[in-house]
Amino acid sequence: MEDVIIGLEIHVQLNRLRSKMFCGCSTDYHNSEPNSHTCPVCLGLPGSLPVLNKKAVEFGIKVGLALNCTIEEETLFYRKNYYYPDLPKGFQISQYDFPLATRGHIMILGDDGVERDIRINRAHMEEDPGRLVHAGTIDRAKYTMVDYNRCGMPLLEVVTEPDLHSPKEARAFLDKLKSILEYLEVFDGSLEGSMRVDANISLKGGDRTEIKNISGFKGVEKALSYEITRQKNMQRRNIKVVQETRHFDEIRNITVSIRSKVGAHDYRYFPECDLVGLRIASWVPAIKAALPELPDAKRKRFVEQYNLSDDHAKSLTSEIKVANFYEAVAARAPPKLAAVWIADVLKGELNYRDQTVDGFSQEHMAEIVNMLAESKITEDGAVQIIRDLLDGRGSSPDEIVKSKGLGKAKDDVVQKAVREAVAESADAVADYKAGSERALNFIVGVVMKKTRGKASPGEVHKLVKAEVEKM
Ligand code: ZN
Ligand code: MN
Repeated sequence: MEDVIIGLEIHVQLNRLRSKMFCGCSTDYHNSEPNSHTCPVCLGLPGSLPVLNKKAVEFGIKVGLALNCTIEEETLFYRKNYYYPDLPKGFQISQYDFPLATRGHIMILGDDGVERDIRINRAHMEEDPGRLVHAGTIDRAKYTMVDYNRCGMPLLEVVTEPDLHSPKEARAFLDKLKSILEYLEVFDGSLEGSMRVDANISLKGGDRTEIKNISGFKGVEKALSYEITRQKNMQRRNIKVVQETRHFDEIRNITVSIRSKVGAHDYRYFPECDLVGLRIASWVPAIKAALPELPDAKRKRFVEQYNLSDDHAKSLTSEIKVANFYEAVAARAPPKLAAVWIADVLKGELNYRDQTVDGFSQEHMAEIVNMLAESKITEDGAVQIIRDLLDGRGSSPDEIVKSKGLGKAKDDVVQKAVREAVAESADAVADYKAGSERALNFIVGVVMKKTRGKASPGEVHKLVKAEVEKM
């Protein structure tokens, strides 16, 4: 879809900070009463003065570096003037000229299956406005309430170049950004409203629309898909797409026009006179030296150190929690086998149950992988153990193996069952000798019955074939 052009502006809450951007109010407001985390500064009362949270700037620099941006030597805050009920000061403290970080890039997997860099125009700091709670949908609400708890939450706004070409690529970009932010320990994506996306979208040659404030990555994909269809239909009917701001209605799954586009000059940006310019050049080296290993580097290391396929390494490193879990298991069990079972089985079972890896014991996973490596259990048995543990049936792999009799039959027992089954299945043996390969399946079935499923079908098939061939 080269004819679709998408750029994103992502508001990221630096929600692993303890206090807000310009005051001492706690950022831990998510389960609190509305308007209980406020003070004169974040309520914008006259005479109150902002004091910058130094840690927020350090977090911002961390992110800027991880996004391969240039960190400006000196950075400035501006006032972005507009009136809205969730913005009690009548302006938002943001950045304009001299933003914190500029010209970066991160790599995503494109729709064509090739990885490529998506350019980042800038990343700047600003404060979050409050939150409006509409009674019903935004365009039909009877009334709206306002909660100022979110006012002054530290935000980083990441702006991409228009390098994305489909809803799926937009999703891939957001997934990668989230992954990096969680690696940096500046962000917790599980909190409501922690990442909000504005998407600019146009068809080649047409004007662009901006969809504001989409929450949730699925929401972004849906909103973009709807907007592409809408613009294509207009193009087909020769109606001009007008440049405007639209809202994504999650309930009706459509975008609706909310206002015509506002230009930067309408915001009357001017330097925030209550905050001085910040010289940050000297902060950068120490922050850079302390950056953790990031997803792409970890993925490369997993391939080299544990001899994993690139797909497994990618799957295991997309979330820092899963990467740490894998390394803990790989220290106690064969790493390659552990990768297969965590990436291909455990992750799927967790996803299906909407659970995270936090709820699964590393020791248990290592135990399961070791039992597989030593042929003490079958693959079916291992899947069963994982499911039982996730669903709260049984307390340990060992206990489940014993109570459910999942232990793999000893080889001599299998061999004995194979000899018996072949002896009892004269017709099937004759069919096989007459050229029917499938006749062996019957004998395999008899062996499985005799060993009550504790042998692996693949191995039994080999043994049966060898036994029949001897005759
Ligand atoms: Zn406050
Ligand atoms: Mn913004």
